[in-house]
Amino acid sequence: MSDDCLFCKIIAGDIPADVVRESEHTIAFKDINPEAPTHVLVIPRRHEPDIGSLAAADPEAAVALLTEARAIAESAGNGSYRLVFNTGADANQTVFHCHGHVLAGRNMSWPPG
Ligand code: 5GP
Ligand code: ZN
Repeated sequence: MSDDCLFCKIIAGDIPADVVRESEHTIAFKDINPEAPTHVLVIPRRHEPDIGSLAAADPEAAVALLTEARAIAESAGNGSYRLVFNTGADANQTVFHCHGHVLAGRNMSWPPG
């Protein structure tokens, strides 16, 4: 737990969130500002700033995060989804607790902006 981290506060229950799935290593909750019909954030319980740091520190948790992302997408629709890890300020990361955006339920364009 990191003291000033919004997502650690959600994990601790200090800030409410619309939780859709929980596992030993992860929790997943609806994004407050959805960009698709399904927009869920899947995060590790362990505080790491990004997916690369998580993979290096706790590979099992990183794999769990990927497995949970697929499960969320499969229960939300037809199994097509985009999994986004904005990593670093230049890539629009605003919360520095690792999180994957699971986006589904509409057609996506490429390349992303
Ligand atoms: P990032 O820009 O770091 O990749 O994504 C952070 C995401 O967290 C954004 O999509 C934003 O809408 C979401 N977010 C920020 N604050 C909250 C909050 O308090 N609750 C929830 N559920 N989502 C949040
Ligand atoms: Zn955190």
